[in-house]
Amino acid sequence: MSLTPLLRKIFLVDLVKGLKVTFHYQPPSEAITEQYPLERPVIFERFRGQPRLNSNPDTGESLCIVCNLCALACPEQLIVVKGERNPATKRKEVVSWTYDLSRCMFCGLCEEACSTDALELSQDYEMALYSREGMVLDQAALERGQEPERYAK
Ligand code: SF4
Ligand code: SF4
Repeated sequence: MSLTPLLRKIFLVDLVKGLKVTFHYQPPSEAITEQYPLERPVIFERFRGQPRLNSNPDTGESLCIVCNLCALACPEQLIVVKGERNPATKRKEVVSWTYDLSRCMFCGLCEEACSTDALELSQDYEMALYSREGMVLDQAALERGQEPERYAK
């Protein structure tokens, strides 16, 4: 090897040239890396995340009238709603409401079908789990929603 290529290798000339081009187009002061989970991303308004069951804010009663339309609309058939009529109020009330998160494709058809706004696709996006266990959510979990851990800087 002649002297010039050897010196180029010793003084890392090609590496320095490459870094010069990189930093010319992306100066470190303009880094756009998201520091998740310390900084949480802004979620777009129309983002569809984990379904949530809503209650009447005044009475705390579920807005679900057990019409079963969401279950019928779901192409994955992953919603199971069971209810019974309350003889006192003559209203149908939820006995069990389950949703299988592992099969949901967040298409939003269940939300569209719901006539009482009891069901909505929330902006909750932290749904990853290490196994499929715990992915079938019941009424209480869907009413409570997610409680993500907040990390401080
Ligand atoms: S978002 Fe789509 S796949 Fe998920 S529960 Fe609703 S209808 Fe079913
Ligand atoms: S469509 Fe709405 S009101 Fe009807 S069963 Fe589903 S969540 Fe309840």
